[in-house]
Amino acid sequence: MILIVDDKSENIFSLKKLLEYHNFSVDTATSGEEALKKILKNVYALIILDVQMPGMDGFEVAEAISGYSKAKDIPIIFLSAVNKEKQFITKGYASGGIDYITKPVDPDILILKAKTFYRLYEQTQQLTNAKEKLKEEIEIRKAAEKKKDEFISIASHELKTPLTSIKGYLQLSERALDNKNIENTKKYIQRTQLQLEKLNNLVADLLDISKIESGKMKFNKAIFNFQNLLNNAIDIVRQTTNGHKITVNGSANVEVYGDEVRIEQVIINYLTNALKYSPEAEEIIIEADIKDDRLKVSVKDFGIGIPPEKQKNIFEKFYRVEETSNRFQGLGIGLYICAEILKRHQGTYGVNSDPGSGSEFYFNIPILNSNTK
Ligand code: ADP
Repeated sequence: MILIVDDKSENIFSLKKLLEYHNFSVDTATSGEEALKKILKNVYALIILDVQMPGMDGFEVAEAISGYSKAKDIPIIFLSAVNKEKQFITKGYASGGIDYITKPVDPDILILKAKTFYRLYEQTQQLTNAKEKLKEEIEIRKAAEKKKDEFISIASHELKTPLTSIKGYLQLSERALDNKNIENTKKYIQRTQLQLEKLNNLVADLLDISKIESGKMKFNKAIFNFQNLLNNAIDIVRQTTNGHKITVNGSANVEVYGDEVRIEQVIINYLTNALKYSPEAEEIIIEADIKDDRLKVSVKDFGIGIPPEKQKNIFEKFYRVEETSNRFQGLGIGLYICAEILKRHQGTYGVNSDPGSGSEFYFNIPILNSNTK
């Protein structure tokens, strides 16, 4: 938009007509003061500024504009009756583009100049935007790099922990075996197996991340019974806890089209988190419901919960709630993988949570999607 500043309304009228005829949108001000107010509020590509005005004259307006960071680069065309002021203008307004037209205005020259300045302004804008975008991109990359470094350090630690335990249990079982204590040998071997399972899951998650990243996560979809899947997942998770009771409500006996192994992975992940983040609680409730050809499943725990402002980030890669990250082991990738699996099943997902009372993680997938109908 072009701003015309002139104290004489008849001048404004003819200039406005002329510019509008050439498809420019135009705003007007009849004094320097009014112009400054408008410049602060709106965005202009060019200002056509009458030099001789009562009150603030054109030079004073230009000088004031040069002090506004938002407007200092707007090109100005001065309109003046006397040519000798030209030198002063160039001196007073060194920043943005400036030019000068003597009155009476030659319409062809004015339009020519207006077009040039308009183009100049647009190019400057594009350049500024590109610069901003580049800056943002650099910031995002820097943050991602930092996150990756942190992740590598956490991941190494997470892998080291079960390895150290395995080493310890194997030594203990060797000793128990030397003492012919079969009972203890069995116990230590079982514990070794649990730690190996942990290690296996960690490595599987890390592989999943790289598969997601390279777009190579494959899904083998077929029709399966959800009740069987759920029972299986609960059996697997029960082996890792003796403190929690896992209850299932609703109806899960339904045939679903999807990747059974991957959907089971989601349930196991939700359940493992529910157990991990509710160490003081005794119960976990699974709710399954079928509605409008979709299956909704939720896993509710009575644990530490998640602060409201953190809930929106919880499915992001590497995200962990900082306040509790030292208390609980984890990599911050489980839910990210769940989200990816659910998206690839045309699913939705989310969490309802109250810090201190617990969390309910849910997902919703079509029972039989269009491929099977
Ligand atoms: P991890 O548990 O390995 O850190 P996840 O991706 O499974 O990674 O979870 C991301 C984060 O979400 C966790 O670090 C934790 O802060 C939070 N979170 C997940 N599930 C729960 C839950 N049931 N209760 C409270 N916080 C949870």
